[in-house]
Amino acid sequence: MTRAVTLTDIHAARERIANKVVRTPTVLSHSLSERFGVPVHLKLEHRQTTGSFKLRGASNAVASLSAEQKARGVVAASTGNHGRALAYAAKLEGMRAVICMSRLVPQNKLDEIRRLGADVRIVGNSQDEAQQEVERLVAQEGLVMLPPFDHADIIAGQGTLGLEMIEQVPDAALVLAQLSGGGLASGIAAAVKGVSPRTKVIGVSMARGAAMKASLDAGRPVEIEELPTLADSLGGGIGIDNRLTFAMCRDLLDDVVLLSEDEIAAGIRHAYEQEREIVEGAGAVGIAALLAGKVGVNGPVVILLSGRNIDMNTHRKIICSDAIAEPAA
Ligand SMILES: *Cc1c(COP(=O)(O)O)cnc(C)c1O
Repeated sequence: MTRAVTLTDIHAARERIANKVVRTPTVLSHSLSERFGVPVHLKLEHRQTTGSFKLRGASNAVASLSAEQKARGVVAASTGNHGRALAYAAKLEGMRAVICMSRLVPQNKLDEIRRLGADVRIVGNSQDEAQQEVERLVAQEGLVMLPPFDHADIIAGQGTLGLEMIEQVPDAALVLAQLSGGGLASGIAAAVKGVSPRTKVIGVSMARGAAMKASLDAGRPVEIEELPTLADSLGGGIGIDNRLTFAMCRDLLDDVVLLSEDEIAAGIRHAYEQEREIVEGAGAVGIAALLAGKVGVNGPVVILLSGRNIDMNTHRKIICSDAIAEPAA
């Protein structure tokens, strides 16, 4: 039996992780507010411990385990940020963590997870192949699987971000949230709409390999090819036997928009040059969607900056390439 994560679950998650995660600030973007004629707020979640919001879900899931499960240890497949967050959360609890990832994961993310003391396994060319290794470890070594998004405790943890956003900007008309596996967008939408039903929540993905968008269009979870993208944290499928996030995204999101690589680069550049923030590609897609004119605005907007774990050489190249630079504000 599966059921959607509710506002009550998200409040419980918040209690559970209160002393494990940072309540990140939300600030007004003067440049975006001026440009779009409405208050545009940035939720600075890229400043979360471990560099992304993933620590919220991982901390909630780890804290929800029984003593017997904690003794066995945890395992997950991850494009990086979930693995990093889970490694950190497990280390705090003195637990074993094994992280499986595909070869597409950037070196900087891999190094960081190893540094946090987790056992890293590199397998295959896709998240789905990494997931097969997870299932083998669950069956053969008795580890507890904590997947990156399709798990009630993970979704509820990510939802705590939505509670903070709507508390920090109670009159928000629109929230822009990254969309990959959909744990983040499901949790945020459940929290935001639970508190403020009229606030719209729009999911933002890269056009290159947007599995949830393809699935929503098909009316069921579908597999699509995983492609390299600047928004590498948004890569990967939603799982053909998706239990929770497909239905929650279908029922709760008002729309999904897709971005080109150039548009994502423009978002990273805007974050750096105008907002003075270093964000990874996935972290910049909300800003990018607004800059690209892909979302209509008619009231206060909250844009989530979801992570900052970008390879700094990649970041430098994007900042220095003026081929597709934004005009100065
Ligand atoms: C994981 C991740 C996302 C997407 O979250 P999902 O729950 O998979 O949709 C967005 N941004 C960053 C930085 C991430 O690490």
